[in-house]
Parts: sequence; structure tokens; C-alpha cells
Amino acid sequence: MTASTPVSYKDTLNLLQTAFGMRANAKVREPELQALWAELDLYERLSQDNPGPVFTLHDGPPYANGALHVGHALNKILKDIINKTALLQGKRARFVPGWDCHGLPIELKVLQGLKAEERASLTPLALREKAHAYALEQVELQKAGFERWGIWADWDQPYLTLHKSYEAAQIGVFGQMVLAGHIYRGLKPVHWSPSSRTALAEAELEYPDGHVSPSVYAAFPVVELPAALASQLGDAARDLAVAIWTTTPWTLPANLAVSVNATLDYCVCATGQGRHLLVAAELRSSLESTLGMTLTPVLQVKGCDLEGIVYRHPLLERTSEVVIGGDYITTESGTGLVHTAPGHGVDDFNTGRKYNLKVLCPVDEAGNLTAEAGPFAGLNVLKDANGAIITALREVGALLAEAPYEHRYPYDWRTKKPTIFRATEQWFASVEGFRDAALQSIAAVEWLPASGRNRIEAMVRERGDWCISRQRTWGVPIPVFYHRTTGEVLLNAATLSHIQQLFAEHGSDVWWQRDEAALLPAPYAAEAEQWRKGTDTMDVWFDSGSSWAGVVKERGLNYPADLYLEGSDQHRGWFQSSLLTSVAVNGHAPYKRVLTHGFTLDEKGRKMSKSLGNVIDPAVLVEGGKNEKQDPPYGADVLRLWVSSVDYSADVPLGPGIVKQLADVYRKVRNTARYLLGNLHDFVPERDAVPYEQLPLLDQWMLQRTAALINSVTGDFERYEFYRFFQALQNFCVVDLSNVYLDIAKDRLYVSGADDVRRRSCQTVLQLVLERLAGLIAPVLCHMAEDIWQNLPYAVAERSVFERGWPSAPEAWRRPELEPPMNQILELRALVNRQLESCRAGGSLGASLEAQVQLELGVDAAAAGSSDALQAALDWLQSSAHPATDNLADWLLVSHLQIGGAFAGEVLSEAVEAGVRVRVAKASGSKCERCWHYEGDIGSSSAHPSLCGRCVAVLEQP
Ligand SMILES: [Zn+2]
Repeated sequence: MTASTPVSYKDTLNLLQTAFGMRANAKVREPELQALWAELDLYERLSQDNPGPVFTLHDGPPYANGALHVGHALNKILKDIINKTALLQGKRARFVPGWDCHGLPIELKVLQGLKAEERASLTPLALREKAHAYALEQVELQKAGFERWGIWADWDQPYLTLHKSYEAAQIGVFGQMVLAGHIYRGLKPVHWSPSSRTALAEAELEYPDGHVSPSVYAAFPVVELPAALASQLGDAARDLAVAIWTTTPWTLPANLAVSVNATLDYCVCATGQGRHLLVAAELRSSLESTLGMTLTPVLQVKGCDLEGIVYRHPLLERTSEVVIGGDYITTESGTGLVHTAPGHGVDDFNTGRKYNLKVLCPVDEAGNLTAEAGPFAGLNVLKDANGAIITALREVGALLAEAPYEHRYPYDWRTKKPTIFRATEQWFASVEGFRDAALQSIAAVEWLPASGRNRIEAMVRERGDWCISRQRTWGVPIPVFYHRTTGEVLLNAATLSHIQQLFAEHGSDVWWQRDEAALLPAPYAAEAEQWRKGTDTMDVWFDSGSSWAGVVKERGLNYPADLYLEGSDQHRGWFQSSLLTSVAVNGHAPYKRVLTHGFTLDEKGRKMSKSLGNVIDPAVLVEGGKNEKQDPPYGADVLRLWVSSVDYSADVPLGPGIVKQLADVYRKVRNTARYLLGNLHDFVPERDAVPYEQLPLLDQWMLQRTAALINSVTGDFERYEFYRFFQALQNFCVVDLSNVYLDIAKDRLYVSGADDVRRRSCQTVLQLVLERLAGLIAPVLCHMAEDIWQNLPYAVAERSVFERGWPSAPEAWRRPELEPPMNQILELRALVNRQLESCRAGGSLGASLEAQVQLELGVDAAAAGSSDALQAALDWLQSSAHPATDNLADWLLVSHLQIGGAFAGEVLSEAVEAGVRVRVAKASGSKCERCWHYEGDIGSSSAHPSLCGRCVAVLEQP
């Protein structure tokens, strides 16, 4: 032994060198990469200069109110994955993001922020100004969140439904529907507040405890029976009445029908006073006590058999009929027969539509009964009308019972007074006029999943006309004028195009800023004093439903759009409103394909809610919480990885456990990439790359696996099945790369001389795989992919991974014939690994390189087939032109391998599987201090007495 410092042979190995960190440091690094994209003008250039066709995924506008939640993340990241894939594939995928800015929630938000006196003195214009400012504020907040997630879009030119150009385009859509005869004015019951003389939206109602209504049971005398029923009833048909129950006696003057449920059982009962009453069979006995009379069943019939009974109104000179209502008629209370006043209830209105009943509404704005209410005219429905009507019922013998009734009842949130249902004039789109065209258009669209088609088809087939007017201030006005004396409507091509131009120039505020003279076009302006501008605004679904005109056509994108992608509730919402307007105006759907996703739930399948404490805030997931130990900053890529991992065709879970698993997968992919990068630090492709045909079998197999991955992932992205990509990516990184190729490659990469073809060929493969891996993950893990690209240790032509384009594999790489023999050997490798593992567990062996292995094939006649297959695989390996790499001992990570023959060592472990005997023994020779192989030639060099001949040769290279 000499006293000199021993040489550290570790320094003579080719170790990893890369600045690409093991940890993402996402909070810092992701914004840096986003800044790089901005500097390169990447999205703008690709989306405009790409050589391929225009691809239009049209953004459904989120509502401009509130913080972003994971539902937003699922939606926008799915869209971004699709757009980034399209950009990589050379398409011009411009994504114009949108916001829905009008409507009640924002109006209420503004009103709630005001003091009572401010609210009282608020002009419509002042309210609109505040709502406008609020919406823009919210848009900026949400936009910043979307950008942080790495979403690419026209962020500087989003579409807002409050933009002038958008409002003008929307008026254009409305105008074309008017001119085509699809828009009409009609009555519809709405929540009405007599105390503030206005219609109210659901959100403006409150339901205080303790509201008591005067409920009455009343008998409406039958005057005519359908023949079949008459013959069944015989004598019981005499003095028959239908029994109804109501908590709003003031609506009785508006009664135009009595509705029954077709599927319920009803019975005609004798009352013992010579009278017969018709009630629901299930309620008969409870009604006996409520009404204080015996009800002896005479005949039981189905509700559907009651249709057509004619009864006389007990208080007014008219007759009406029994009609079939719907499932809203139950036996929970009342009589099972429902007093129907189409002007005063939504169910009544809908039933009335089926039977073409008039929308009678004998109540004025203040809640006073009108002349149409006959003797009750002038009474107030919330004050004296009920009492007078109950008295009148009693006088004519129609009152069966009366009782105070406590129930939930809507009050005006501002005046704290009760509201009523009252039919008012509203604007409708007549769906009947283009229903067939809409159904045909639905059939021409590709719905993903296919069940979406049935959903929207059923909804469009069964829906009523679309009420598009709202009595609100924060919206696009319905640009109509009413004659001050006759009420005649002024709405034609001249007024529409004039208003459209005014909106395009000034925005829809102009409707409130100017008087009629300044809003009417030339021929009408002169007679402006005769006209009064309307005060209704449009349903916000009409706003967003016009986006195909306001955005897609306006910005020169594909119309119909290639894709709409939203939550599955939009069959009822945006998919439908967009379809209806587009079909009404242009006769076809605004989209070629519609993809839907489910909703986000927690890990137990529950809704996320503050009270359950199970909300995952995407901002915290990405940027970390206050306590970063507890809530680390995982980065946008982990959020994006989650989106790619879920089968979004159903509802998707997210919770802390899932986030941890995703972070693990993220780390695996990152560390795989880091390993590839770290081993390429001295690789110059032009100088060092080995041509494909000179690569060993192992390398050619790795490239075949890569080609197969590109194939499958390309298909996964085309079918929007990102979860398959997520699985394939993990499998590729963990199994093909880490467990097999890189595991075997360690010796080639570290131990061989830097310039040895054994190492250069491996580096060639690493480079080819790495660049493609970066491309394949780029749509999902966009930051990691770019980080890889920026850390490539050799020169590349493209400044960004996104400029490289979608990965492809040369035809030569596709060698599926390499897989069967390789799979044979990998199975053998697994068998040997199990033996080595059991030796390690028993303490008889340390590292696998301490082992030598003997194989004996054909030891089990019953398994001759598999043994033959392995023999063929070994022959294949044997035939390789690159024995220094295609070497079974190296592949098994043992120091020596022997096939057949006499086995010298002391057998530590032995197993027979599939006709192969595996014996493990300690390797002979001693351990090389540099490569850790056990060799017989250690010490042959005096300069390096602890090294094997191979290592000495590496060190002594010139
Ligand atoms: Zn060695």
C-alpha cells in the first residue's frame, strides 16, 4: 500500500450534468417560461402563420363574476390542450376567449354594494356604468388566472358581450329573426311586485317565515260530461261538481280550466247531501275531515278519462273544461284537481298553451282587479279581493271549506311586501317557426359523447317558445318603440339597422342616453313624440347565443366553428341558445362538433362546498397556500396534468390525495426528462449521432417503442381521450424508459469512454426520444416541455418546443418485429430479477452485479413452446452486430451469464419457470472499483490495480 491519495474513479465516470432541476420550482419557472413565449410572440405567430388550415374552437363565455374555481380549470385547460395540439400540428388555431358580462347577478352585485339612498336615486345609466366597471374588473381577475394556467389565447382582444361591436352583431341577429317573423310579443306570467310595480327575477325574491294565505276548497258545478263517463255515472251525474283548492282566491276570476293528472285515480263521491264531488281517490278520506262531510265513493276513474268535462264558473257567467295538466299535480295537498289560471302561474300557463287557453290576467300593475274580473273590479288582490271572493263563493253555495294556510310565499326583496304571479307582455322567439330546421341541424352535428345528441334533441323537440325579454337595466335593450296611444309596435328593417349602427358606434348605453327623436331613423324621427322606446332588455342567453355572429364571423374564424366544448349542462344553455339563433338566421348549427365534460366533485363524489371544507382552490394548488408546507405550490402543470388524467365524459373527482398522486406522476416524468438531458451534456448531434442502421437492437427497440407511443398518443389527442395519453405517458416513462432502457443503459452511459460508440449510440437514442417526449407532453405539460427545450445542451433550430411541431417518427423506426423477442427477454429479465431479489432479501447477495447467472432452456417438456420462443429470442440477440451493447449479461445487470454447461458457483437460488431454469451464484473474480463489475482481470494494470481491463482501457485512451 502506498501512502498517496487514492484516485477517485467516480470522477472518471460520465456523470449527469444539467441545469434542469429535479424540482420544478414552478412558482418562479412557469412565469419565466410564459414570459419567453410572450417575447417570442409564439401563440400569435403560430396561430396566424402556421401552414395548415384554420381551426376554430369557439370559447363559451364564463360569467364575469367571482373567483376562478376548478370547474373553470377543467373547461379552459381542456380547450387549451386541444388548441395547443392543433397549433403543434400546424393548424391556425386562434382562440378568442370570451366573457358573458350582462345580466342580473352583476346588476344585483352592484345594487347590493350601494346604500339605500344611493340605490333609490340611481339612474339606469349610472347603474349601467357601475355594472360595466364591475364586469371589466372581474374579467381582468379571471383573465390573470387563466393566463397563469398557461392558457394561450387572444388575451389582448377577448370578446366581451358588452363590447359595442358585439352588441351591434347581437342586434343584427335579433333583427334578422324579427324580419324572418320569428319574434313576437305575448303574455306570460312573471313574478310581479304590486308594491314596486315591476317584474322581479327569482334572485330578487325572499321567502320570509310565517306567511299565511286564506285557502279555500270550492265546488265548480259540472254542466256536461263526456258520453262514456256519463253512461258510467248514471244517477251520480246529477248535481256533480269538481272540487278544487286554492291559496289565492283572488285568482278565481281568472280561472279558465281545472287540470287533472292523467295517471292519478279519481273518484266520484256522494256527499250525503244529495250532491256528488269529484276528488282524487287518495285524498278522499282526508278530505272527509277537512270538508266535514262523508264522501262515499260511487265510481273510480283515471284522470285521463276526465278530460272534456264542462263546468260552470261559480262566480262568473262562463263555462270551462277539465284538462290534462302534468306531473305537477299531486296528492300531497288540495283535491288532486287544480284550479288553472294561465295568467297567474307558470304551470297553468304551460297547460294553457297546450289547450290554447287565453292568458287572462284581470289584474293591473298595482294589483287591482280590472273590469275583466266582473263584480270584483277595483278590489286589490293583496288586500280586499280575497275576502270578497270567499264571501261570494259562500253565497252561491260553492264554498266547501276555508282555512288559513301557512306556506312559503315570495316577497319583494326591496319593499318586503308579497308578490304575485301576473301575466305581462313579453317578447318571444317562436321556436315553432324553426323547430324542424333545428332538429335537422342537430342531426348534422357530431356530438361527443353521442348521448349529448339525444339530450339536446329531446329538449329542442319539447321546448316552448323562448321568452327573450327581461325587465332589467344591465343588458342589451330590445330595440323597439311603442305607439304612445295605440301601443302599436315599431320594429322594422329601417329601425333595426339604424339602432344597430348607433350601437356599433356608441354602445347600447345610447338607448338610455338619447330620446326617441335621436334614436329613430329619418322617416320616423319627425314623429318621434308619438313613440316611446321600450325598457326591456334581452335574456343574457340571447347575448351569449349570438357569439357565432359577434365573434366567430366577426373575427374571420370558421363558421360553423370546428368545436364547441362546455359542461354538459349547456345542452340546456349555450349550446341550445347558439343553435336556435344560428338556425333561425342561417339555417344551420353554429358548430360542427360539440364536446361536453362533466362537473368537478371531491374525492368522495360530493359537490365542493365551503361548508364541507372540501374545496380545492386552483389558485392555491398552483401558487401554494399561506402555509407552503401544507399547501405547496404545485404549479400550473400539475393542474393541467389533472385535467388530462380524468375521464371527463362523467363527473370528475379532485382532492388532496389525487393532487399528491399527480405530483408523483409529474415528478416521474420530470426526472425521466432530467436523466435524458443530463446524459446529453457532451453530445453534439452533428458530430456524435449514430445512424439508425448502425444502432444496436436495444436502441432500435427503444425507437420502435417511441414510434408506437407517438402513434397511440396522436390518436388519443385526435379522439380527445387525454386520460389515455396520461396512462401511456406514465407507462413509457416508468416501464420502457426507467425500468428497461435506462436501467440497462447506465453502464453504457457512465462507464464507457465518453466517445465510445456504445455510449454515443445510446445518447443518439436519448436525444431522439427526449425531443419527441417534449413534443408529446407539450399540449398538457406545456411548461415542462418548454423547460426541457430550453435546457437542451446542444443547438436546435427552433427556439421553442412549439415551433418544432407535433412529433413524428421516421418510417424506419417502425419495427414491430423487434417486440416479440424483446418481450421474451424482458420476461426472462423479470424472472432473474425475482431470483436476485430473493437472494438480496436473504442477505446472500448485494448489488445484482455481484451475481452470475446460469440459464438452462428446455428443462420442462410441457413448456417446450415458451422455451423455444426464448431460444429464438436469444438467437436473435446473439446475431446482433453490436455484441458490446446487445449483451444479455448487461441487460440482466449481472457480471456473468452462462447458458447451459456446468455451473461453477455455489448456487444461491434456483427456479424453473416456463421451461427455463435460472441459477444464481456469487460472481467469481473481484469487484472493479470503477464499474463495480466482478471480473477476473482486476489488477492487471499496475497504474490502476483496482480496475478491470475494460476500465483501464477507458482511462488510458489518448
Ligand atoms: Zn471496470
